[in-house]
Amino acid sequence: MKTRALLLSLLMLLPLSLLPSRAAQAAPIAIVAAESTYGVIAQAIGGNQVQVDSIIKNPNVDPHSFEATPAVARKVAKAQIALLNGIGYDDWMTKMLAANPAPHRQVIVAADLDPALIMPDRNPHVFYDPTVALKVAERLAQLLQQADPAHREAFAGNLQRFKTQLTRLNEAQEALAKRHPQLKVTATEPVVGYLLRQLGWTSLGEKFQFDVMNDTEPSPAEVARYEDNLRQHKVALLFYNRQVTDPLTDRLRALARSSGVPVVGVDEFVPPKTDYVQWQMQTLAAIEHALGKAR
Ligand SMILES: [Zn+2]
Repeated sequence: MKTRALLLSLLMLLPLSLLPSRAAQAAPIAIVAAESTYGVIAQAIGGNQVQVDSIIKNPNVDPHSFEATPAVARKVAKAQIALLNGIGYDDWMTKMLAANPAPHRQVIVAADLDPALIMPDRNPHVFYDPTVALKVAERLAQLLQQADPAHREAFAGNLQRFKTQLTRLNEAQEALAKRHPQLKVTATEPVVGYLLRQLGWTSLGEKFQFDVMNDTEPSPAEVARYEDNLRQHKVALLFYNRQVTDPLTDRLRALARSSGVPVVGVDEFVPPKTDYVQWQMQTLAAIEHALGKAR
């Protein structure tokens, strides 16, 4: 009894730093990602040391018109690290972070990490550029190492693995561009703009695509030009955004099909049970498949 009391008082005299670090054993680091694309990158880098919540992950949601609920606000308020796209893509998240201030929360805005990577037309779909994904992963690894130094090595290893996968993706993009150099293509919405830049392909009907993205009615002349590109085979492919659709985009998809222009369905964010590189590789495979059918 006496010994225990003595031990207890000795323990109380110990400086806090000599006690086992609470942080190292505490609950996983809470990360909130505006879209599943950033969520899967966070999971790849954080591994078991993180708890990732992706807000937009339902493949049937149009992210450009997403409205956050109070449940989303609670998740955002609890997060230690928040990931978002930026340049107007997910302003709801920016507003939510501002409305739930937390001095120790770290925020990563993908589009702000390297302004030189942003296309001159300010296309917000930066996640189709593997270099942007790499910048996000690197910044995240840095923040995680600061938050949980005990797992420094693990985070560094995860980052290295992700980089190796990205190298494979870059090689696959280069190979596709080599097999199909300088194609002219079009899309219902500018979702794959950064991929097309990587491939060195030209996207026709950009004004039309941005109108669809912004929910603006394209002018009749714009629609006529767009239809002409399909009817006259001025484009090798139509990229059809499966998440941003309306009767007009459906009609254009039908027109592409009846005109013999192959259609490739693309997404705004990583589908369930898929990682970032798998998703991008699947898109490349779908493009290759569609171009093969065109011959
Ligand atoms: Zn979009």
